[in-house]
Amino acid sequence: RAKESGRGCLRRFDPEMEQRLRLRQSLEADLRGALARGEFEVHYQPIVDLAGARVVCCEALLRWRPHGRGLVPPGSFISVLEEIGLIGLVGAWVLRTACADAALWPEGVRVAVNVSSAQFEGDALVGVVEAALRESGLPACRLDLEITEAVILNDDAAIFATLHRIRKMGVRVALDDFGTGYSSLSYLRRFPLDKLKIDRSFVSGLDGSHAATSIVQAIVTLARSLDLRTIAEGVETQDQLDRLCRLGCDEVQGYLFSAPRPNAELPAMLHRIDGAAQQALPARP
Ligand code: C2E
Ligand code: MG
Ligand code: MG
Ligand code: MG
Repeated sequence: RAKESGRGCLRRFDPEMEQRLRLRQSLEADLRGALARGEFEVHYQPIVDLAGARVVCCEALLRWRPHGRGLVPPGSFISVLEEIGLIGLVGAWVLRTACADAALWPEGVRVAVNVSSAQFEGDALVGVVEAALRESGLPACRLDLEITEAVILNDDAAIFATLHRIRKMGVRVALDDFGTGYSSLSYLRRFPLDKLKIDRSFVSGLDGSHAATSIVQAIVTLARSLDLRTIAEGVETQDQLDRLCRLGCDEVQGYLFSAPRPNAELPAMLHRIDGAAQQALPARP
Protein backbone atom coordinates (compact mmCIF):
# COMPACT_ATOMS: atom_id res chain seq x y z
CA ARG A 1 0.00 0.00 0.00
CA ALA A 2 1.03 3.56 -0.66
CA LYS A 3 1.59 4.29 2.99
CA GLU A 4 4.06 1.44 3.45
CA SER A 5 5.98 2.34 0.34
CA GLY A 6 6.51 5.97 1.28
CA ARG A 7 5.64 8.47 -1.41
CA GLY A 8 3.27 6.72 -3.82
CA CYS A 9 5.13 7.66 -6.90
CA LEU A 10 8.46 6.35 -5.69
CA ARG A 11 7.38 2.80 -4.87
CA ARG A 12 10.21 0.49 -5.83
CA PHE A 13 8.32 -2.65 -6.65
CA ASP A 14 4.79 -2.90 -7.96
CA PRO A 15 3.96 -6.34 -9.36
CA GLU A 16 1.10 -4.99 -11.46
CA MET A 17 3.25 -2.33 -13.05
CA GLU A 18 6.03 -4.84 -13.55
CA GLN A 19 3.57 -7.15 -15.33
CA ARG A 20 2.30 -4.34 -17.55
CA LEU A 21 5.85 -3.36 -18.44
CA ARG A 22 6.72 -6.97 -19.40
CA LEU A 23 3.62 -7.29 -21.60
CA ARG A 24 4.45 -4.01 -23.26
CA GLN A 25 8.06 -5.06 -23.88
CA SER A 26 7.03 -8.35 -25.45
CA LEU A 27 4.43 -6.54 -27.62
CA GLU A 28 7.17 -4.18 -28.81
CA ALA A 29 9.53 -7.07 -29.54
CA ASP A 30 6.81 -8.91 -31.51
CA LEU A 31 5.96 -5.77 -33.49
CA ARG A 32 9.60 -5.07 -34.37
CA GLY A 33 9.81 -8.34 -36.29
CA ALA A 34 6.26 -8.42 -37.64
CA LEU A 35 6.90 -6.66 -40.95
CA ALA A 36 9.88 -8.88 -41.85
CA ARG A 37 7.90 -12.00 -40.90
CA GLY A 38 5.04 -10.94 -43.17
CA GLU A 39 2.50 -10.81 -40.34
CA PHE A 40 0.70 -7.65 -41.47
CA GLU A 41 -2.33 -7.71 -43.77
CA VAL A 42 -4.46 -5.00 -45.31
CA HIS A 43 -8.23 -5.45 -45.29
CA TYR A 44 -10.68 -3.28 -47.22
CA GLN A 45 -14.03 -1.77 -46.32
CA PRO A 46 -16.26 -0.43 -49.13
CA ILE A 47 -17.55 3.15 -49.21
CA VAL A 48 -20.86 3.65 -51.04
CA ASP A 49 -21.75 6.80 -52.96
CA LEU A 50 -25.36 7.66 -52.12
CA ALA A 51 -26.26 9.45 -55.35
CA GLY A 52 -24.86 6.71 -57.58
CA ALA A 53 -25.79 3.80 -55.25
CA ARG A 54 -22.48 2.03 -55.83
CA VAL A 55 -19.06 1.41 -54.27
CA VAL A 56 -16.69 4.25 -55.19
CA CYS A 57 -13.85 3.61 -52.74
CA CYS A 58 -12.49 1.09 -50.24
CA GLU A 59 -10.67 2.08 -47.05
CA ALA A 60 -7.46 0.14 -46.36
CA LEU A 61 -7.32 -1.02 -42.73
CA LEU A 62 -4.22 -2.60 -41.24
CA ARG A 63 -4.42 -5.99 -39.50
CA TRP A 64 -1.76 -7.97 -37.64
CA ARG A 65 -1.72 -11.76 -37.55
CA PRO A 66 1.03 -12.75 -35.08
CA HIS A 67 2.23 -16.29 -35.67
CA GLY A 68 -0.17 -18.81 -34.16
CA ARG A 69 -2.62 -16.19 -32.93
CA GLY A 70 -5.79 -14.60 -34.33
CA LEU A 71 -6.20 -11.31 -36.16
CA VAL A 72 -5.30 -8.21 -34.10
CA PRO A 73 -7.15 -4.93 -34.89
CA PRO A 74 -5.05 -1.76 -35.14
CA GLY A 75 -6.51 -0.03 -32.09
CA SER A 76 -4.13 -1.99 -29.87
CA PHE A 77 -0.90 -1.55 -31.80
CA ILE A 78 -0.86 1.56 -34.07
CA SER A 79 0.05 3.81 -31.15
CA VAL A 80 2.87 1.40 -30.17
CA LEU A 81 4.22 1.47 -33.75
CA GLU A 82 4.18 5.28 -33.48
CA GLU A 83 5.98 5.27 -30.17
CA ILE A 84 8.73 2.87 -31.22
CA GLY A 85 9.30 4.73 -34.48
CA LEU A 86 8.06 2.00 -36.81
CA ILE A 87 4.93 3.67 -38.19
CA GLY A 88 6.89 5.16 -41.10
CA LEU A 89 8.04 1.74 -42.33
CA VAL A 90 4.73 0.00 -41.72
CA GLY A 91 2.78 2.95 -43.12
CA ALA A 92 4.86 2.87 -46.31
CA TRP A 93 4.17 -0.87 -46.60
CA VAL A 94 0.41 -0.23 -46.23
CA LEU A 95 0.55 2.43 -48.96
CA ARG A 96 2.45 0.16 -51.37
CA THR A 97 0.18 -2.79 -50.67
CA ALA A 98 -3.03 -0.77 -50.96
CA CYS A 99 -1.97 0.89 -54.24
CA ALA A 100 -0.85 -2.45 -55.72
CA ASP A 101 -4.16 -4.09 -54.76
CA ALA A 102 -6.27 -1.15 -55.97
CA ALA A 103 -4.50 -1.06 -59.35
CA LEU A 104 -6.29 -4.36 -60.10
CA TRP A 105 -9.77 -3.21 -58.99
CA PRO A 106 -12.39 -1.78 -61.37
CA GLU A 107 -11.45 1.74 -62.49
CA GLY A 108 -14.37 3.38 -60.70
CA VAL A 109 -13.14 2.22 -57.29
CA ARG A 110 -10.55 4.32 -55.42
CA VAL A 111 -8.56 3.37 -52.32
CA ALA A 112 -8.30 5.38 -49.07
CA VAL A 113 -5.22 4.92 -46.86
CA ASN A 114 -4.88 6.13 -43.26
CA VAL A 115 -1.77 8.18 -42.55
CA SER A 116 -0.58 8.78 -39.00
CA SER A 117 0.51 12.24 -37.89
CA ALA A 118 3.96 10.74 -37.19
CA GLN A 119 4.33 10.04 -40.93
CA PHE A 120 4.26 13.81 -41.52
CA GLU A 121 7.44 14.25 -39.47
CA GLY A 122 10.48 14.62 -41.69
CA ASP A 123 9.98 14.90 -45.42
CA ALA A 124 9.66 11.26 -46.51
CA LEU A 125 5.91 11.09 -47.06
CA VAL A 126 5.73 12.74 -50.50
CA GLY A 127 8.38 10.36 -51.84
CA VAL A 128 6.66 7.34 -50.27
CA VAL A 129 3.35 8.27 -51.93
CA GLU A 130 5.05 8.91 -55.29
CA ALA A 131 6.85 5.56 -55.14
CA ALA A 132 3.67 3.65 -54.22
CA LEU A 133 1.85 5.18 -57.20
CA ARG A 134 4.74 4.65 -59.60
CA GLU A 135 5.39 1.02 -58.63
CA SER A 136 1.71 0.07 -58.76
CA GLY A 137 0.72 2.11 -61.80
CA LEU A 138 -2.34 3.33 -59.86
CA PRO A 139 -3.37 6.79 -61.11
CA ALA A 140 -3.02 9.41 -58.36
CA CYS A 141 -6.69 10.34 -58.77
CA ARG A 142 -7.63 6.90 -57.41
CA LEU A 143 -5.80 7.41 -54.08
CA ASP A 144 -7.13 9.22 -51.01
CA LEU A 145 -5.15 9.82 -47.84
CA GLU A 146 -7.04 9.97 -44.53
CA ILE A 147 -5.47 12.24 -41.95
CA THR A 148 -6.64 13.11 -38.45
CA GLU A 149 -7.04 16.40 -36.68
CA ALA A 150 -3.75 15.62 -34.91
CA VAL A 151 -1.98 16.30 -38.23
CA ILE A 152 -3.41 19.75 -38.73
CA LEU A 153 -3.21 20.65 -35.06
CA ASN A 154 0.54 20.98 -35.55
CA ASP A 155 -0.19 24.11 -37.49
CA ASP A 156 3.11 23.90 -39.19
CA ALA A 157 4.30 25.25 -42.53
CA ALA A 158 6.07 22.00 -43.41
CA ILE A 159 2.89 19.93 -42.99
CA PHE A 160 0.94 22.47 -44.97
CA ALA A 161 3.51 22.23 -47.79
CA THR A 162 3.46 18.40 -47.70
CA LEU A 163 -0.32 18.33 -48.06
CA HIS A 164 -0.16 20.79 -50.94
CA ARG A 165 2.43 18.68 -52.78
CA ILE A 166 0.37 15.53 -52.27
CA ARG A 167 -2.78 17.18 -53.60
CA LYS A 168 -0.87 18.64 -56.53
CA MET A 169 -0.10 15.06 -57.63
CA GLY A 170 -3.86 14.48 -57.82
CA VAL A 171 -4.22 12.55 -54.56
CA ARG A 172 -7.20 13.62 -52.44
CA VAL A 173 -7.12 14.25 -48.70
CA ALA A 174 -9.87 13.36 -46.22
CA LEU A 175 -10.09 14.52 -42.61
CA ASP A 176 -10.91 11.39 -40.57
CA ASP A 177 -13.04 11.12 -37.39
CA PHE A 178 -14.21 14.68 -37.87
CA GLY A 179 -15.68 16.26 -34.76
CA THR A 180 -13.72 14.26 -32.19
CA GLY A 181 -10.57 16.36 -32.08
CA TYR A 182 -9.83 19.59 -30.32
CA SER A 183 -8.96 21.85 -33.19
CA SER A 184 -10.81 24.99 -34.16
CA LEU A 185 -12.95 25.24 -37.27
CA SER A 186 -10.77 27.87 -38.88
CA TYR A 187 -8.23 25.25 -39.97
CA LEU A 188 -10.86 23.74 -42.28
CA ARG A 189 -10.64 26.79 -44.46
CA ARG A 190 -6.85 27.02 -44.33
CA PHE A 191 -5.89 23.41 -44.82
CA PRO A 192 -5.93 21.78 -48.25
CA LEU A 193 -8.68 19.16 -47.84
CA ASP A 194 -11.20 17.43 -50.10
CA LYS A 195 -13.42 15.39 -47.77
CA LEU A 196 -14.71 15.19 -44.21
CA LYS A 197 -15.40 11.85 -42.58
CA ILE A 198 -18.15 12.25 -39.98
CA ASP A 199 -17.16 10.25 -36.91
CA ARG A 200 -19.08 7.11 -36.01
CA SER A 201 -20.10 8.55 -32.64
CA PHE A 202 -22.40 11.06 -34.39
CA VAL A 203 -23.76 8.46 -36.82
CA SER A 204 -24.63 5.99 -34.05
CA GLY A 205 -26.58 8.72 -32.26
CA LEU A 206 -28.77 9.40 -35.30
CA ASP A 207 -31.45 6.85 -34.37
CA GLY A 208 -32.57 8.47 -31.18
CA SER A 209 -30.96 11.79 -30.56
CA HIS A 210 -31.98 15.17 -31.90
CA ALA A 211 -28.58 16.52 -30.92
CA ALA A 212 -26.75 14.00 -33.13
CA THR A 213 -29.04 14.86 -36.05
CA SER A 214 -28.32 18.57 -35.60
CA ILE A 215 -24.59 17.91 -35.44
CA VAL A 216 -24.57 15.83 -38.63
CA GLN A 217 -26.73 18.44 -40.36
CA ALA A 218 -24.31 21.17 -39.26
CA ILE A 219 -21.28 19.21 -40.49
CA VAL A 220 -22.90 18.56 -43.88
CA THR A 221 -23.84 22.24 -44.26
CA LEU A 222 -20.37 23.37 -43.23
CA ALA A 223 -18.71 20.88 -45.61
CA ARG A 224 -20.90 22.01 -48.52
CA SER A 225 -20.05 25.64 -47.97
CA LEU A 226 -16.35 24.74 -48.00
CA ASP A 227 -16.74 22.52 -51.08
CA LEU A 228 -15.84 19.34 -49.17
CA ARG A 229 -17.54 15.96 -49.65
CA THR A 230 -18.92 14.18 -46.58
CA ILE A 231 -18.52 10.50 -45.72
CA ALA A 232 -20.39 8.99 -42.76
CA GLU A 233 -18.47 6.32 -40.82
CA GLY A 234 -19.90 3.39 -38.91
CA VAL A 235 -23.30 3.17 -40.62
CA GLU A 236 -24.93 0.04 -39.21
CA THR A 237 -28.68 0.34 -39.84
CA GLN A 238 -31.05 1.13 -42.71
CA ASP A 239 -32.57 3.83 -40.50
CA GLN A 240 -29.19 5.59 -40.18
CA LEU A 241 -28.74 5.28 -43.94
CA ASP A 242 -32.15 6.84 -44.65
CA ARG A 243 -31.44 9.73 -42.28
CA LEU A 244 -28.01 10.37 -43.82
CA CYS A 245 -29.61 10.48 -47.28
CA ARG A 246 -32.14 13.03 -46.11
CA LEU A 247 -29.42 15.10 -44.43
CA GLY A 248 -27.54 15.30 -47.72
CA CYS A 249 -24.47 13.25 -46.83
CA ASP A 250 -22.49 12.17 -49.94
CA GLU A 251 -21.06 8.75 -49.02
CA VAL A 252 -21.41 6.07 -46.33
CA GLN A 253 -19.24 3.32 -44.88
CA GLY A 254 -20.15 0.74 -42.26
CA TYR A 255 -21.21 -2.74 -41.25
CA LEU A 256 -24.63 -2.19 -42.92
CA PHE A 257 -22.85 -2.86 -46.22
CA SER A 258 -19.77 -4.75 -45.04
CA ALA A 259 -17.04 -5.08 -42.44
CA PRO A 260 -13.44 -4.79 -43.72
CA ARG A 261 -12.50 -7.94 -45.68
CA PRO A 262 -9.30 -9.34 -47.28
CA ASN A 263 -8.47 -8.26 -50.84
CA ALA A 264 -9.18 -11.74 -52.23
CA GLU A 265 -12.85 -11.29 -51.36
CA LEU A 266 -13.14 -7.90 -53.00
CA PRO A 267 -14.47 -8.79 -56.48
CA ALA A 268 -17.40 -10.75 -55.02
CA MET A 269 -17.93 -8.11 -52.32
CA LEU A 270 -18.06 -5.21 -54.79
CA HIS A 271 -20.62 -7.05 -56.89
CA ARG A 272 -22.77 -7.91 -53.88
CA ILE A 273 -22.65 -4.41 -52.39
CA ASP A 274 -23.45 -2.62 -55.64
CA GLY A 275 -26.60 -4.78 -55.70
CA ALA A 276 -27.38 -4.14 -52.02
CA ALA A 277 -26.87 -0.38 -52.45
CA GLN A 278 -29.31 -0.27 -55.36
CA GLN A 279 -31.88 -2.04 -53.15
CA ALA A 280 -31.24 0.10 -50.08
CA LEU A 281 -31.15 3.50 -51.75
CA PRO A 282 -34.02 5.28 -53.46
CA ALA A 283 -33.38 6.09 -57.11
CA ARG A 284 -32.42 9.73 -57.59
CA PRO A 285 -32.98 11.80 -60.70
P1 C2E B 1 -10.67 4.76 -38.88
O1 C2E B 1 -9.73 5.20 -39.93
O2 C2E B 1 -11.67 5.74 -38.39
O3 C2E B 1 -11.36 3.45 -39.47
C1 C2E B 1 -12.69 3.07 -39.25
C2 C2E B 1 -12.77 2.03 -38.16
O4 C2E B 1 -14.15 1.78 -37.87
C3 C2E B 1 -12.18 0.67 -38.55
O5 C2E B 1 -11.67 0.08 -37.35
C4 C2E B 1 -13.42 -0.09 -39.02
O6 C2E B 1 -13.27 -1.49 -38.97
C5 C2E B 1 -14.43 0.41 -38.03
N1 C2E B 1 -15.81 0.32 -38.53
C6 C2E B 1 -16.22 0.44 -39.81
N2 C2E B 1 -17.55 0.34 -39.92
C7 C2E B 1 -18.02 0.16 -38.66
C8 C2E B 1 -19.36 -0.01 -38.12
O7 C2E B 1 -20.37 0.00 -38.81
N3 C2E B 1 -19.43 -0.16 -36.76
C9 C2E B 1 -18.32 -0.17 -35.96
N4 C2E B 1 -18.51 -0.34 -34.65
N5 C2E B 1 -17.07 -0.01 -36.45
C10 C2E B 1 -16.93 0.14 -37.78
P2 C2E B 1 -10.26 -0.62 -37.31
O8 C2E B 1 -10.00 -1.35 -38.59
O9 C2E B 1 -10.17 -1.38 -36.02
O10 C2E B 1 -9.26 0.62 -37.28
C11 C2E B 1 -9.22 1.50 -36.18
C12 C2E B 1 -8.36 2.69 -36.48
O11 C2E B 1 -6.98 2.32 -36.64
C13 C2E B 1 -8.72 3.40 -37.78
O12 C2E B 1 -9.86 4.21 -37.59
C14 C2E B 1 -7.45 4.18 -38.05
O13 C2E B 1 -7.43 5.36 -37.29
C15 C2E B 1 -6.40 3.25 -37.51
N6 C2E B 1 -5.77 2.55 -38.65
C16 C2E B 1 -6.19 1.44 -39.31
N7 C2E B 1 -5.32 1.10 -40.30
C17 C2E B 1 -4.33 2.03 -40.27
C18 C2E B 1 -3.13 2.25 -41.05
O14 C2E B 1 -2.81 1.53 -42.01
N8 C2E B 1 -2.36 3.33 -40.69
C19 C2E B 1 -2.70 4.15 -39.66
N9 C2E B 1 -1.89 5.19 -39.37
N10 C2E B 1 -3.81 3.99 -38.93
C20 C2E B 1 -4.62 2.94 -39.23
MG1 MG C 1 -9.79 6.14 -41.65
MG1 MG D 1 -12.43 7.17 -39.51
MG1 MG E 1 -13.14 6.46 -36.72
